[in-house]
Amino acid sequence: MRLGNIGDYLDGVRSIAIAGHVNPDGDCVGSALGMHLYLRENYPEITTTVFLENVRNEFRFLEDADQVCTSVDEVRPYDMILLVDISSRDRIGVIQDLLPLAGKTLCFDHHVTNRDSYTWLFNYPDMSSTSELIFHFMDPEKVSEKCAEALYMGIVHDTGVFQYSCTSPTTMRTAAVLMEKGIPFSRIVDDTYYQKTYVQNQIMGRTVMESILILGGRLIIGYVKNRDMIFYGAEPKDMDGIVNQLRNTIGVEVAIFMYEKEPSVWKVSLRSKDYVDVSAVAQKFEGGGHVRAAGCTMNGSQYDVINNLTYYLEKALDEPHGV
Ligand code: AMP
Ligand code: MN
Ligand code: MN
Repeated sequence: MRLGNIGDYLDGVRSIAIAGHVNPDGDCVGSALGMHLYLRENYPEITTTVFLENVRNEFRFLEDADQVCTSVDEVRPYDMILLVDISSRDRIGVIQDLLPLAGKTLCFDHHVTNRDSYTWLFNYPDMSSTSELIFHFMDPEKVSEKCAEALYMGIVHDTGVFQYSCTSPTTMRTAAVLMEKGIPFSRIVDDTYYQKTYVQNQIMGRTVMESILILGGRLIIGYVKNRDMIFYGAEPKDMDGIVNQLRNTIGVEVAIFMYEKEPSVWKVSLRSKDYVDVSAVAQKFEGGGHVRAAGCTMNGSQYDVINNLTYYLEKALDEPHGV
């Protein structure tokens, strides 16, 4: 499937700042670096700079990951700002100050909730990942092995290793083309997706052990308090995967996982299995995401947050067609 050609949007463009969302995940890092590598290899007249809040250790094997800028040193106009996977404009991390100065803005995304305006917005909510989406704007022949590694990693992360319902036959065909570039596909899955540190496993185990199962076993809730994050020396990235582990529980339709990133401020992740639209619930609290995976930030005690969420989730569980 070919959705377009990135080259068609680059007339007169010599400098591009590529950026993703706060707390960048595998798809965000994979699509930002994948786009950078494709442009570097095929459009040598263009200089690209990648801005991401941070790049996790396990993603650092990617080519040029060590050149990612984690802050803006010089506020200057770029010919283009190219955004990936951001889901909404207020989640743009480090390049907020550069945006008003940019000549053009181009955004690739796959979140139903992205409704902001850009010079060009390519938002395909049916796409598994932004990494897959941008591949469909590239010439497959011109995708190098290094670029393929980045895109494959992004697809693996947003599909839960080709498991979630966002995985399509086209996703698999895309993965096949990337695999044919000679990438270390097993290692990418193992080292960037499954492997955990001892502390990450401890927090996951403890959270699952202390989780609460309510509403007839259809809703499961797990949380990590700020003081426990401090105790374990845990960062937001250490919470990855916990919500999926909760969701794996037999009989559960919706899983809530939340961690208290600062006292009384909770980062909430919502996942559903078959029918509840968790993105609609996240939007009630100024969050967003996808039908089966969404998130928001909420304030109060854990009991306040759980009460506020379950008000909508109970309705959604009983009325499969909306909240
Ligand atoms: P997470 O639970 O953080 O893994 O997020 C699940 C999905 O929801 C991801 O695709 C995020 O991009 C999206 N998402 C998470 N938090 C927010 C938010 N505060 N606003 C909009 N989208 C979000
Ligand atoms: Mn993302
Ligand atoms: Mn994504």
